[in-house]
Amino acid sequence: MAKPIIQLKSVSVVYQPGEVSEVWGARDVSLEIFTQEYIVFFGPSGSGKSTLLNLIAGLEKPSKGQVIVNDQDVSKISEQALIEFHRTTTGIIFQAFYLISNLSVKDNILLPQMFRKLPKKVREQKLASLAARFGIGEVLVKKPNELSGGQQQRVAAARALINDPLIVLADEPVGNLDSKNAEITMQLLQELNLRDRKTVILVTHDPRYLPYADRIYYVKDGSVEKVVVNHKKQKIDSKAVSELDKLAQSFPYYSSQRLMAKLVLNEVLLPYSYSDLEKVEEVVEKYLLKKATSGDIQKVLDDPYEKGGIDMYSQKAKQTLDKILDLLKQAQAFAAKPGAALSQQQLRQLSKSLIAELALSLTLPQQNRLNEILLQRMADKISDEEVFKRLDLPFKDGGVGLNKRTAHNLSRKIQSIFEE
Ligand code: ADP
Ligand code: MG
Repeated sequence: MAKPIIQLKSVSVVYQPGEVSEVWGARDVSLEIFTQEYIVFFGPSGSGKSTLLNLIAGLEKPSKGQVIVNDQDVSKISEQALIEFHRTTTGIIFQAFYLISNLSVKDNILLPQMFRKLPKKVREQKLASLAARFGIGEVLVKKPNELSGGQQQRVAAARALINDPLIVLADEPVGNLDSKNAEITMQLLQELNLRDRKTVILVTHDPRYLPYADRIYYVKDGSVEKVVVNHKKQKIDSKAVSELDKLAQSFPYYSSQRLMAKLVLNEVLLPYSYSDLEKVEEVVEKYLLKKATSGDIQKVLDDPYEKGGIDMYSQKAKQTLDKILDLLKQAQAFAAKPGAALSQQQLRQLSKSLIAELALSLTLPQQNRLNEILLQRMADKISDEEVFKRLDLPFKDGGVGLNKRTAHNLSRKIQSIFEE
């Protein structure tokens, strides 16, 4: 049996003990959380969720019991050790982002590193990669109050990650956000869990976020009422993500629809040849793009070779079609949520491949601008012409600052990738 990374042993927290105003934040709570789990503490306001999270973060001391995190007794460690613990073990994302308003975004993110003796270069690289990942490269010099709520949240996330903590704690992180930014934040947490393999604990009173969890602790009146394992989530599971991630790395130029087709078909059409697989992939990709029907897929499965099919028996073609549609549904349900995670991954890979392929030598800020352009083109927010313009525009004017010919080549390449 794996060892838990977090253990609460009969922990109680009493506020104002012995007074009339005495409140129990936690009552004799015992729990075990394992590495890479995604845990939700769920319950109504005032039930004690934040108290549990703060205990784990070492921000709250138990009145009774023990809190062991990553082999350390957090309730007993010295102030000095606690500072180190906060630097290396936990990263916290709060609802109120706690960004410091008179520091730039960049300095806010670097704050947790202030007392770490890291070479400037390493620090800058980490900053740049997080900024690129969260799409905040352009706002690093701004002040937090110049950003949208979603951007602030991403800055807070980048700050939580700058020291690469083992555990990410999020206390009602989406409470203040509109639904779009809430979705982005939830995707982010999911990504941290699945891709970065962080243990994630989310505190929420909102049942809409329960499906993200591996396990849910229902909290009430300072106690854990019940613990529920989310079997559904295990079915949609992390395997699909890492497989898609792997595919995205091997085929950076493929559309996400094509990657999904590949993923699903690999499983269904195992004994078929590569060229057969390609034929079906193509039609499934079209289907996902709503340019073909399920009947078209069946036709490719069923038709003889000379008609462009792969010559299955009719009966088998029908069964195979059902299986494909079923798997696609599962995969899509899954991709609808961590979609951004996948595209971020694909995006970075794509950007890298483009830079390598055209033998470009770009500074990190230039790469970030390129990423931003790719992201916007991917989301169909800008046209191919706009892509060219922004590649060509001098860096000081907000562009990537390539020369005309390179900008032209690169924008043509990008166009060919994104056109459907
Ligand atoms: P939740 O996060 O689920 O809303 P909390 O963990 O913040 O709940 O609070 C649990 C209970 O403890 C509540 O009744 C709250 O009022 C009380 N509480 C929390 N922090 C303090 C404190 N510092 N002093 C007194 N009571 C507190
Ligand atoms: Mg709370």
